[in-house]
Amino acid sequence: MTYKLAVLPGDGIGPEIVAEAIKVLDVLRDEFGLALEMETAAIGGAGYEAAGVPLPDETLALAQAADAVLLGAVGGPQYESLPRDLRPERGLLGIRSALGLFSNLRPALLYPQLASASTLKAEVVAGLDIMIVRELTGGIYFGQPRGIRKRPDGQREGFNTLVYSEPEIERIARSAFATAMKRARRLCSVDKANVLEVSELWREVVERVSADYPEVELSHMYVDNAAMQLVRDPKQFDVMVTTNLFGDILSDAAAMLTGSIGMLPSASLDANGKGMYEPIHGSAPDISGSGKANPLATILSVAMMLRYSFDLEALAQRVENAVGKVLDKGLRTQDIFTEGCELVGTVAMGDAVVHAIQEMRE
Ligand code: NAD
Repeated sequence: MTYKLAVLPGDGIGPEIVAEAIKVLDVLRDEFGLALEMETAAIGGAGYEAAGVPLPDETLALAQAADAVLLGAVGGPQYESLPRDLRPERGLLGIRSALGLFSNLRPALLYPQLASASTLKAEVVAGLDIMIVRELTGGIYFGQPRGIRKRPDGQREGFNTLVYSEPEIERIARSAFATAMKRARRLCSVDKANVLEVSELWREVVERVSADYPEVELSHMYVDNAAMQLVRDPKQFDVMVTTNLFGDILSDAAAMLTGSIGMLPSASLDANGKGMYEPIHGSAPDISGSGKANPLATILSVAMMLRYSFDLEALAQRVENAVGKVLDKGLRTQDIFTEGCELVGTVAMGDAVVHAIQEMRE
């Protein structure tokens, strides 16, 4: 089967880092048998420039018809004065919801070569490899009713609703178990079941789904303890699954354990494994056009795509190992640079990964 990929470079450094990821895909296609067709479309500020809206119809149609989407980043200061509906970020929210991407996979992966970049002690984080599976389309961020109202005593109160239905919990649990099956087969479900009824139901449903995944070792942890354990001993975790709100907070904390935003990929999946893959960082307007951006988060997003949407584990590992080899050689973009290493730009880093992929053939 030939996979169809929609490529959405976006704004700022987006096109620069996506170009390097495409080089990686080109070599996998030309030399390692990856059957892939790619088509590019505009999103974010680029969508606004091209078609007057951040998510042009033809971009959405291309993404809907594709097996996976590779996104760079959107946004930039020149778009900040636009009406809210026309801002680049709207394109991102729009495509996520139109594609029904409810499962957000955020790895916190620290190559041992970069351990000194973390604010934590190297021995606590070196070799860290956690995957946080965050529910992305439900929970308190979307629950109704919500608002700010006046009480009878004249004081105002703000209110939101935390609600998860059984099917919503079940599908994120299945996504997390399936993810754990592709890794070390340990899943920690994070909740607040000692206080919240929603969490009680969450725990019950996750337990029930676990019967279908007997090879995965399931544990439960309260979110306050999980936050503590993430900074105390993060290597105890393989996959963590949690709600939208808890996942938002924990995945940012886990990302910072690694010390570099330029290294972290992400995936957002629908119920059939179709996914959108993107680096977690933004469009970095401060370095856009300077050739300094780190393309590795985007290249590692390609590895996630090969693993989670295309089920091509060997190719995914080839890309990840190539990144490791390049770091072993001491090549660093400025965001991960330390004394004694060789400073390179975006294009040289991409070339080095491509070369390492080819070298591993022999
Ligand atoms: P940012 O992630 O773009 O940049 C934060 C800092 O990290 C900057 O100093 C930047 O130079 C650096 N950085 C980011 N990616 C890098 C890379 N690959 N290599 C080297 N350095 C890198 O966040 P910001 O500055 O808060 O936001 C800039 C724009 O990006 C805004 O318009 C924001 O709305 C948008 N944004 C988009 C996304 C997305 O597309 N998913 C996410 C976050 C922010």
